Amino acid sequence: MSTPFNPWEMACQQLDLVANKLSLDPNLHAKLRHCKRALIVSVPVIMDNGEIRVFEGYRVQHNVDRGPAKGGIRYHPDVTLDEVKAMAMWMTWKCAVVNIPYGGAKGGVVCDPANMSEREIEKMTRRLTSEIAIIIGPDKDIPAPDVNTNPQVMSWIMDTYSMGVGYSAPGVVTGKPVEMGGSLGRHTATGRGAMLVLQEAMQHRGMKPQDTRVAIQGFGNVGGSFARFLHEWGCRIVAVTDVSGGIFNSSGIDIPALQTHVANHPHRLIAGFEGGDFVGSAEAANRELMTLDVDVLAPCALANQITTDNAAAIKAKIVVEGANGPTTPDADIILNERGVWVLPDILANAGGVTVSYFEWVQDLQSIFWDEDRIDHELTKIMKRGFRDVLAIAEQEKCPMRMAAYMLAVNRVATAVKWRGVYP
Ligand code: NAD
Repeated sequence: MSTPFNPWEMACQQLDLVANKLSLDPNLHAKLRHCKRALIVSVPVIMDNGEIRVFEGYRVQHNVDRGPAKGGIRYHPDVTLDEVKAMAMWMTWKCAVVNIPYGGAKGGVVCDPANMSEREIEKMTRRLTSEIAIIIGPDKDIPAPDVNTNPQVMSWIMDTYSMGVGYSAPGVVTGKPVEMGGSLGRHTATGRGAMLVLQEAMQHRGMKPQDTRVAIQGFGNVGGSFARFLHEWGCRIVAVTDVSGGIFNSSGIDIPALQTHVANHPHRLIAGFEGGDFVGSAEAANRELMTLDVDVLAPCALANQITTDNAAAIKAKIVVEGANGPTTPDADIILNERGVWVLPDILANAGGVTVSYFEWVQDLQSIFWDEDRIDHELTKIMKRGFRDVLAIAEQEKCPMRMAAYMLAVNRVATAVKWRGVYP
């Protein structure tokens, strides 16, 4: 039986392990173990039926010693303050691993957008924005999309914030539509970044794409684009799951056809796709997917998916963490003991925040880059991130997660040390 899952405890546990390994100054360790700021807001919304519902929202900034805070906003019924705090801390490490000048933040609202109208989601977003406007801003904290938030939600946030300050402030959020200050390549950046990290890893291991079978949990922004890039590179995607179930096809799923199906599905689901065997329950499909005989397993949906319940049965050689926190620390130990190579979330899914950083830079300068430049700069940063982490892993003979944390925590702790503690 696995222990009850608390993402904040897990994030602190991961920090403690690396602080120990780095022999980190206990004063710096203590500072990094706390979030700088956590705002809890009530978000009252007049629903379409006239009833007022009050949603709970959060914005947490973990650390800003290396630059303004950065992190997504999630709309999900399971959002908790502890989850948001954990994700804010992970954002701090993620920005530091790929060496972009941001600290970590995250936000969320406890809601079920699948059962809300677009108008209700807009009203909730605008009210949330005005409640958290006191701590966000282009120089302070820059939100971005996460689970169940998208370019439309970012546009509402940007518009509401701009109304408050009295001028258009595109730099307040990233992940916006290109037509209003968004960046080319942002929508697919996390999937592309994960593919770039996996490519480096496979090349390091001498694995060829045409001999590589991949299973992917989640077919949204991250899982969908990751699947598409791997398919284009020549890998065989043999299983994909989403909230509606899973598609299994040992000869390889036609990913462009699945993407077209999802784009035309009223709820953007894989259910009803005919290019494989369909398992109509997410729970059953995930159970099968996780232990499938594949070379690469990519959890690209939710946290807490690889646990002590299934880690011993995972057959993949490489796990690429497209999602945040998909592997629990106990499961991580099992995977490492079994020789499964885990490419950790703070490296593998850093492509999204990297192109968000490009978007923010473009907004501040009002000069926009073409897609080739975005891809070129992203490739450079992701490959450098992989090489930096691999070098530490080889030198310290430790797993990639520990190496990524050592790199990140060291960078942040050094900045904290330079800045000192105010006053
Ligand atoms: P999304 O909402 O676009 O997609 C989520 C996908 O997961 C959907 O296909 C959904 O059906 C599926 N899903 C939900 N519950 C599931 C379940 N029980 N089993 C299987 N599939 C399930 O979200 P996203 O932006 O793709 O984010 C996915 C993960 O990646 C999250 O952990 C997020 O924090 C992380 N992430 C996202 C980005 C980004 O740029 N979007 C960047 C870094 C990390």
